[in-house]
Amino acid sequence: MGTSGRNLLVAIEADEVIKLLNRAFADEWLAYYQYWVGAKVIKGPMKEAVIAELMQHAADELRHADMVCNRIIQLGGTPLLAPNDWMDHANCSYEAPIDPYVLEILKQNVDGERCAISVYQKLMEITKDRDVVTYELALQILQDEVEHEEDLQALQEDFEMMMSR
Ligand code: FE
Ligand code: FE
Ligand code: MG
Repeated sequence: MGTSGRNLLVAIEADEVIKLLNRAFADEWLAYYQYWVGAKVIKGPMKEAVIAELMQHAADELRHADMVCNRIIQLGGTPLLAPNDWMDHANCSYEAPIDPYVLEILKQNVDGERCAISVYQKLMEITKDRDVVTYELALQILQDEVEHEEDLQALQEDFEMMMSR
């Protein structure tokens, strides 16, 4: 294991960090799928603009899953190996886009981003001054999640303004 691996962890067990990273890993896969399938079934005004945003975010969530997975392996852990495990380990609830209306899809994904933000904030608190590599990883991802939330809220505002005229 390299210098960025288990030997950098001083006060906390790598196993605890691996467990938290696997939970975040599950969240990322579910977030990816919620965006991806939402973009397929969505209906209503402004849907082209919303689909473009949803697909960008889906790609970001998949990239986050990749980043988190690499860190799990670096720490000597094993990423969750079966999709069944995602629902069992996730911090955030998966919201199926049963109602395909644009506004409903936007709201579901805003909820998801709020949860993701809290997950990475917590991971930063836990790894601060203890595991600098995981801390920096969580910070990087957190910045994306904050931007995702802002982008969805901006679309929601545009949508509501358009519908009120
Ligand atoms: Fe993410
Ligand atoms: Fe996100
Ligand atoms: Mg965006």
